[in-house]
Amino acid sequence: MRSKRDWRDLAVCGGSPAFTEPIHVGRPNVGDRQRFLARVNDILDRRWLTNDGPYVREFEAAVAALHGVRECVCMSNGTVALEIATRACGMAGEVIVPSFTFIATAHALSWQGIKPVFCDIEPLGHHIDPGLIDELITSRTTGIVAVHIWGRPCDTQALEQVAGRHGLKLVFDAAHAFLCSERQRMIGGSGDCEILSFHATKVLNTLEGGAVLTNDEELASRMRLMRNFGFRDYDDVGYSGTNGKMNEVSAAMGLTLLESIDEILEANKTNFELYREGLAQLPGVQAIPYESAERRNFQYVVVLIDESRAGLDRDSLLSALWAENILARRYFYPGCHRARPYLDLDPHVDGRLPITNDVAHKILLLPTGTSVQPEDVATVIDVIGACLRHPAHVSSGLGGMGFQEERV
Ligand SMILES: *Cc1c(COP(=O)(O)O)cnc(C)c1O
Repeated sequence: MRSKRDWRDLAVCGGSPAFTEPIHVGRPNVGDRQRFLARVNDILDRRWLTNDGPYVREFEAAVAALHGVRECVCMSNGTVALEIATRACGMAGEVIVPSFTFIATAHALSWQGIKPVFCDIEPLGHHIDPGLIDELITSRTTGIVAVHIWGRPCDTQALEQVAGRHGLKLVFDAAHAFLCSERQRMIGGSGDCEILSFHATKVLNTLEGGAVLTNDEELASRMRLMRNFGFRDYDDVGYSGTNGKMNEVSAAMGLTLLESIDEILEANKTNFELYREGLAQLPGVQAIPYESAERRNFQYVVVLIDESRAGLDRDSLLSALWAENILARRYFYPGCHRARPYLDLDPHVDGRLPITNDVAHKILLLPTGTSVQPEDVATVIDVIGACLRHPAHVSSGLGGMGFQEERV
């Protein structure tokens, strides 16, 4: 690595980019190719491609065991898992959710005609703030969907208390929290159920996929019917359902990646530790820590940019990084409440979400995962350091241009 000492070395100022090929947040992990292809051959030999096949069942059993829950119901993706889970629990009317989450958390509700009522988050954990829920409850409220954001679980006990006090259903969006723990217990068994996503960008992927974890066997069997059009048996439909089934190739991918999950988590952890140490030397750039007493998947390297100390705002730094082929991301900007259709539904919502708005303007996710090497992390830290030493040159190099995210 050639360190960027001079401002002229920065790509926004005409220097050559630090990376010739882009490095990404959430580049998919792929496991052992031969093991995956062998499983695909089995599937083709069996001609059992979907509909509760043997690999789906094996994957469900493995994921349930890893999280210490009775039931894992695999689905076609995490969004459908959220839709089916909230519906199977009986959510309707209004449901309280954080705005600071991936848009699918809100969409899974509105797609079913349920109004998401956005609640602000805690400034440190970025979770829905249990203390703010009471005041949002109306006669139409039926439930809460909370998010284990960045794989750090919510305070599930506090949320269970709020839900219990008001007779509300409680679902956790655990899309980030595969193999994470809270109070030394794996996630999956809190509230009515918890949903996982196995999308390509998640720590463990099944190409597309998701699951619901629960200890409620009755709820699980209802969800199994719902994911398969409500079929109880041949020609016997007992329920309004949809098609939310996971296919066998997806389960084969999941089983194959489970065999390398330890190495994936180790690579994530190594990168995270390098970022944490390196960024600690820089003013106004704070990497959100992971609690060492708990299990974490280290899938996200999340930093907060404090403009007054860093000398550079988040979006200018982001643009400068993109010029270097460092494709950092600002998840979940600008927050669900500022996206359509929610923006038009409730004109007063913005004033109710000061912490969400603040965090959405400071947060930056840095590239990590198995395709990002430790030396790449060192380069990213070096580039960020150079940007912070030359904020005026970065700004003039950007020529007042705001951040323009291209589709990659
Ligand atoms: C990825 C994600 C989802 C959606 O999962 P898909 O499998 O992509 O449908 C939902 N919620 C959160 C917080 C996510 O990160």
